Amino acid sequence: MYSDILVRYGEISLKGKNRKLFEKILMQNIKLRIRDIGRFTIERTFGRIYLRKVNELTDKVIQRLTMIPGVVSVSPVVRAGLDLDEFKECALNVLLDALPNGGTFKVETKRANKQYPLKSPEVTRILGGHLLTNYPHELTVDVHNPDVIVYIEIREHDVYIYSKVVAGPGGLPIGASGRGLLLISGGIDSPVAGWMGMKRGVTIDALHFHSFPFTSERSKEKVIELTRILAQYSGRIRLVIGHFTDIQKAIGLHCPEKLHITIMRRMMFRMATKVADMLNAKVLLTGESIGQVASQTLESMEVINAVTNIPVLRPLITADKTEIIDIARKIGTFETSILPYEDCCTVFVPEAPATKPKIKDAEAAEVNLDIDQLIEDAINKSEVLIVTSDGIVAEFDRIGDSE
Ligand code: ATP
Ligand code: MG
Repeated sequence: MYSDILVRYGEISLKGKNRKLFEKILMQNIKLRIRDIGRFTIERTFGRIYLRKVNELTDKVIQRLTMIPGVVSVSPVVRAGLDLDEFKECALNVLLDALPNGGTFKVETKRANKQYPLKSPEVTRILGGHLLTNYPHELTVDVHNPDVIVYIEIREHDVYIYSKVVAGPGGLPIGASGRGLLLISGGIDSPVAGWMGMKRGVTIDALHFHSFPFTSERSKEKVIELTRILAQYSGRIRLVIGHFTDIQKAIGLHCPEKLHITIMRRMMFRMATKVADMLNAKVLLTGESIGQVASQTLESMEVINAVTNIPVLRPLITADKTEIIDIARKIGTFETSILPYEDCCTVFVPEAPATKPKIKDAEAAEVNLDIDQLIEDAINKSEVLIVTSDGIVAEFDRIGDSE
């Protein structure tokens, strides 16, 4: 029944050049994300995007569109001619679709075409009457709080009729804010942090530290699956599988046990900073949240953060676990995140980790590590996977080959 899709977007605060760029990137992202469903004409007019002649693929396309950051909401619309008798019938179909078993409604008309012979209130009155007479179930008008609003937009050459409004994630289109490197574990938090970064327009690459055989192949599979789920929002994610085994062994051999976690995380941040540089990412993103575990006290964060000189974004820093879980469920990562495979933070948890480490103690504990060499070797042994919503589509043995 519906022919076209109307896409609403944008933050009201965006103006001028920023807005132009936002629109251009969003149009590109939409094209990319629906390409496999079909090639539709996409137009932008008066601050809205329209997808033309989507017809029977409407539901499928809407499901995709509502995952794209930058999309505020979408509506399936019927496009009719300017002839009143024609769009009266369309309005009845739209009402029946939105309100199949009776209830309350109102009509709202917008007349962008000032040449149209009838004024908006007149169109509203005529259509309201038509719907009340022809709708087959109990129907009353409620102008304040109706079950359904039938919107009529009269434009120069045609009329749009719709009632459903499906919410999208809002935010900024991916690509509007530069590139960031997400430190992704198999846990609940980091995929959520990645999604939040994407929702603010950050293009995400991901880095997972894998310590085979301390951590199993299955824990790696889990991270690939989480990345695949995130790629449903962005189209494509480059996932670096960081070789962390030798670093972990060296820490185990040369550093005091109660600082293992602190030093492991300092090594992660050091390596991530190098990888970010190779991939041209300007920031790191993590799933850290104050006080969640020993390494996430403010003191620990200070000691860990001291090894990097690029900004570390922590979108969840003040979120409660329940809030994080709510988002994880909404974006579809939760069920995968709670699968029980260990990550490299859980295999080496010492009995009593330091909750208030000091930078000078961490530095002293690292004197027997050949930090630069360990990181260079780890980077050379890391592999890169290109992940889309369909899974892995390409693999590279070296980070530098993945451009
Ligand atoms: P998560 O649920 O994201 O695993 P967490 O509550 O388990 O977080 P930590 O294990 O302390 O917390 O990790 C804090 C952050 O460090 C993670 O959110 C993630 O960004 C990063 N991180 C931890 N382990 C890894 C790993 N193996 N590979 C990449 N990043 C990691
Ligand atoms: Mg974790």
